Amino acid sequence: MITIGVLGLQGAVDEHMIQIRSVGEHAVLVKKPEQLGDIDGLIIPGGESTTMGKLMDHYGFMDSITAFYEQKKPIFGTCAGMVLVAKELVSLEAPHLGLMDISVKRNGFGRQRESFEAPLLVKGMEDPFKGIFIRAPLAVRVGKNVEVLARYDENIVAARQEHVLVSAFHPELAGDNRFMQHFIDMVKNPVY
Ligand code: GLN
Repeated sequence: MITIGVLGLQGAVDEHMIQIRSVGEHAVLVKKPEQLGDIDGLIIPGGESTTMGKLMDHYGFMDSITAFYEQKKPIFGTCAGMVLVAKELVSLEAPHLGLMDISVKRNGFGRQRESFEAPLLVKGMEDPFKGIFIRAPLAVRVGKNVEVLARYDENIVAARQEHVLVSAFHPELAGDNRFMQHFIDMVKNPVY
């Protein structure tokens, strides 16, 4: 059994904890940087990226998550978590980790499409995955080492770079474990 931590400062934390347990792995709520030493992979959940970024800064998570990343431990950022792992934010000055070579536009779908659901074709998945988008970000540029896993219209909404995975939508709310399983496979079978 592996141990997955969910950053528990703010946002959609419980749903991830439940899903980790439902696939038979151990879930830990991460409230302090020292706990990163006890986990095999980290999920940065959806929520409010500016608030979460400030709290991460305040509680010393910026350097400790960067060190976790440098140890090649897998990280999964969903929604606000995708904003926080991005290297570049479009028209926004806010604390972030800068781990994945993508440019992310916060609330990228605008007011007209604040929240919606859409079936997504995801690389490596046979059947569509229900994308639940809640004031979701989108990636407007990805670097050459980034593998695009899903698009909605032309927008990039899921991607992977080495041991970092991101989704603009909320896979933990879809009643479908495949994204979680993908992340757990990254933790169990490191290729980098
Ligand atoms: N709009 C939020 C942000 O950018 C993200 C929303 C979410 O995580 N569901 O912080």
